[in-house]
Formats: sequence, structure tokens, C-alpha cells
Amino acid sequence: MKGFLIHADKCVGCHACQIGCKDEHCGNCWMPYAQEQPESGQFWMKVDQKERGQRPQVKVSYIPTPCQHCENAPCIAAAKDDAVYRRDDGLVIIDPVKAKGQRQLVDACPYGKIFWNEELELPQKCTGCAHLLDDEDSPIRVPRCVDNCPVHVIEFGELDELDLEGAEVLHPEYGTKPHVYYKGLPKKFIAGTVFTPADEEIVEGAQVVVTNGEQTYTDTTNSWGDFWVDDLPDGDWTVTITGAGKEKVLNVSTVDEDRGLGDIPLE
Ligand code: SF4
Ligand code: SF4
Repeated sequence: MKGFLIHADKCVGCHACQIGCKDEHCGNCWMPYAQEQPESGQFWMKVDQKERGQRPQVKVSYIPTPCQHCENAPCIAAAKDDAVYRRDDGLVIIDPVKAKGQRQLVDACPYGKIFWNEELELPQKCTGCAHLLDDEDSPIRVPRCVDNCPVHVIEFGELDELDLEGAEVLHPEYGTKPHVYYKGLPKKFIAGTVFTPADEEIVEGAQVVVTNGEQTYTDTTNSWGDFWVDDLPDGDWTVTITGAGKEKVLNVSTVDEDRGLGDIPLE
């Protein structure tokens, strides 16, 4: 079984995978796997970009997302006349002939990775570049998005040959068993700048302890008074900041978002 392993923490957001997919499939008809991808409105590969935190403590994360080539694919279940099928290598393919008019497939994908081609009346999505994998004469024998990434963020191959230790899938709660795995998916952070209001000086070397009673993370403010506690799971935390002979305790939640706490007076 083949699949993808995407190292999200190495992605620099250049969109070369997304552009490569467009270049491979726009203006090119790769039957029997796919009709042409329209130039606009469809992104079979999409780099999902997310701004995290609040100014001035902000990070941007990038997550390349193709069709997840699910083992329990809802699109296969929703298709009539076997219009969506899984190949022996695990790739999930929409048959461009049988799927004509089957608009329900767009809504069947919980990842939003099936697009409707109004002109052709056809649902379309990532093919895993099956046309490249199957063509022994092709100079490229991997998906085009894999080949196009200049920093080798995306791996493709036999799942039992990829290093999947510690890898995650997107939305495991969907129960779809994706064949697209990720490493380095962003967790939450808590960050801030510590200062003493009496003299309006930042506090260097303050100890920051973030705990939920079971897990504890620590950091020390740097020469700008900044601390960043990264890789936090979602949850409710007690943040204790100790420095300049003072202590401050804050209750901070990372359930919904990363937390840039801004300037924190230590008094
Ligand atoms: Fe089907 Fe969507 Fe899963 Fe791809 S991600 S196999 S389109 S359900
Ligand atoms: Fe696009 Fe091919 Fe990558 Fe799928 S495998 S996202 S079709 S370039």
C-alpha cells in the first residue's frame, strides 16, 4: 500500500507543491485517471496556511493537504456505479467517465478535497498522479507535488517503508484511515513578554512554568523578556512566572487557539 508522509514542520510555504499539481493537471488530460484540472477554483494540492497566536506573538504554519486517500473512504461509499475506486496500491481514484453528474461526491469528502467541475459536470480530485506512477517511460515516477517541493517536505512510497513512527493523520475522529500521514503538525503555544511596570524594564531570566497538574513545560525569558512554550496539547493551563523577586499566576486555555499573551506586568 502506498501513501504520503508530509513533514509539516519543514514546509516553508512556497506553494511549489500546489503549483506543481496545477502545472501537471491544468491543460493536461490524464485519462483514465483524470480530466483536466480547471485553472481556477480547484486545488487538488493546497497549502493550508494558518496564522497562530495574537500580535506580537504570532507564528504561521503551513500544511500541504491533498486528498487523504482514505482506507475507509466516504467518497467510495457515496459513489454510484463504482465511480470511485481504490487501486491495488491504495490510491483512491474518481473515474472521470462513471462519475459524470455525481455531484454528491463533493459533499461526501469530510476533508473538502473533492471539487465540482461545472463545465464537465464532474467531481474531481487528486489522483496521486497515478499517470506518472504507471508510466515506466516517465522521467518522474513520483507524484508531481513530491517532485516539485524544493525542501523535500513530501515523501511518497510504500507505507511500510516510510518512517511513520510518531506520525499522525488529519482528523482521526472521522475514522477514514487516511493514507496521508504527517509529522510536525503544529501544536499550541503560550508566549509573552515579561516586564516590571514600576521601572518599565523587561525581565530577563524569569522562570515560566506551564502546567495542567499532569504535564509541565518550562521556559526562561530571554534578553527581550520573551518566553515561548511550544508543543503544548490543547488544554487548560496554569502559567506561573517568577522573576525580579515577584511571581504572577495566570490561567490560560489552549483549547481553541495558540495564546500570545502580549506584555505581562510582573508586580
Ligand atoms: Fe475520498 Fe475525501 Fe478520503 Fe480523498 S480525502 S479518499 S476524496 S473521502
Ligand atoms: Fe496533485 Fe498529483 Fe500531488 Fe495529487 S499527487 S496533489 S494530483 S500533484
